Amino acid sequence: MSPEDEGRELDDKFHDECGLFGVWNHAEAANVAYLGLYALQHRGQESAGIAATDGHAFHVEKAMGWVADVFSRDRLRRLPGNRAMGHVRYSTAGSSSLRNAQPITATTAHGPVAIAHNGNLINAEELRRQLEADGAVFQSSSDTEVILHLLARAEGGTLVDQLARALAQVKGAYTLLLLTPTCMITVRDPSGFRPMTLGRLNDSWVLASETCALDLMEAEIVRDVEPGEFVVVDDAGLQSYKPLRPQPKLQCVFEYVYFARPDSVLWGRNVHAVRKALGHQLAREHPVAADLVIPVPDSGVGAALGFAEEAGLPYDSGLVRNHYVGRTFIEPEQRVRDFGVRLKLNPVKHVIDGKRVVLIDDSIVRGTTSRKIVRMVRDAGAKEVHMRISCPPTISPCYYGVDTPSKNQLIAANKSVDEIREYIGADSLAYLSLEGLKKAAGESERLSYCTACYTGKYPTRLVDVEEIQAAPAPEMVAGD
Ligand code: SF4
Repeated sequence: MSPEDEGRELDDKFHDECGLFGVWNHAEAANVAYLGLYALQHRGQESAGIAATDGHAFHVEKAMGWVADVFSRDRLRRLPGNRAMGHVRYSTAGSSSLRNAQPITATTAHGPVAIAHNGNLINAEELRRQLEADGAVFQSSSDTEVILHLLARAEGGTLVDQLARALAQVKGAYTLLLLTPTCMITVRDPSGFRPMTLGRLNDSWVLASETCALDLMEAEIVRDVEPGEFVVVDDAGLQSYKPLRPQPKLQCVFEYVYFARPDSVLWGRNVHAVRKALGHQLAREHPVAADLVIPVPDSGVGAALGFAEEAGLPYDSGLVRNHYVGRTFIEPEQRVRDFGVRLKLNPVKHVIDGKRVVLIDDSIVRGTTSRKIVRMVRDAGAKEVHMRISCPPTISPCYYGVDTPSKNQLIAANKSVDEIREYIGADSLAYLSLEGLKKAAGESERLSYCTACYTGKYPTRLVDVEEIQAAPAPEMVAGD
């Protein structure tokens, strides 16, 4: 295996999607956006960008890399104005290159607009072909540009009308953030796959994919943007519209399991508390005689704490993560077994030696990394290794804005639980049930989740473009 392959294998996870942040009416808008993106870095590490405006001119800076590397003090100075929006990206559609970095900008009938997107459109290819046949020229391969072309061509009075008509044509997952010289708009798709939170920072409005970005600047969390809601912020205040046809709510449950930061509050619940609840439920469903519970850090920590609490077992840090691993590394000429994983995780022999260990992780994707971790824990002296996973087997790819391997690479799509146990070399293996996941995540009539990567049953969204295009202008449903 090449070092690059091994490096990729270090990350045998579903990958985060993107992070969005916007601020309106702040003297240091670009600096605030930079801080917001900094807090959202876990949602995308390939590129970062900020667009800012003073109400007249538009400035955009974006580049490949992490937020702190992309934005120097000088670069932030090139983003004047009291309104700004930013984006961190992990490519879920469109290749990983600067031309796909966001925000992307264009001039429409309503003037210049910058747009950024978290999610994935399932009919983007079809729409792109139609638009190209109609003369559209695309600069990038991202879904976001499809939305921008639809917006530029949509008929309608206000920008919100046009946006509603454009979005009536798309299917899939999107949380959008748009900035023009005179307003900032965010939209969550009617199923609400991806999150967005509205906050207040003194006299400024802020929007962020996760509340951890608001905490960093001590902004007040006002509320979640609702599925299907358009929130428009301008100098007159804030308006809310719901112009799209309602759909069943399908918020991504994997945000709780793995993506979101544990300190964030998502859909009314703290992510760490939900992860602990997953661990409690897992221990109730799959108890095991053991001496110790250890997490695969960092994402397994919450569930491991919950499991240990419920099982009445000691919890300890039996694996330590090196947080400073880059994407590439020079491998020693003499092969070190499991070199890549050892770069990232190291067992604490003192903790593990002679113990029957329950090892908690949030998921098994291909199984390659789990196999190496189990071997590492055994080599550190564990008498038994019982693997417990805080979600059901991931049997299907995601089409809603998460980078996942194809079905033939998902181990749970191709092997039984016992075959996976044998492959990873654990003494026992058990996954949380789907019912247990929903229960621990607090599913209710008000709060429902997408679980398609565990069930293979993809929600289908029917869109009647003609009907919606003929619909009257959207009605304001709430104001501030
Ligand atoms: Fe989330 Fe899985 Fe649904 Fe994708 S398929 S939106 S990862 S729950």
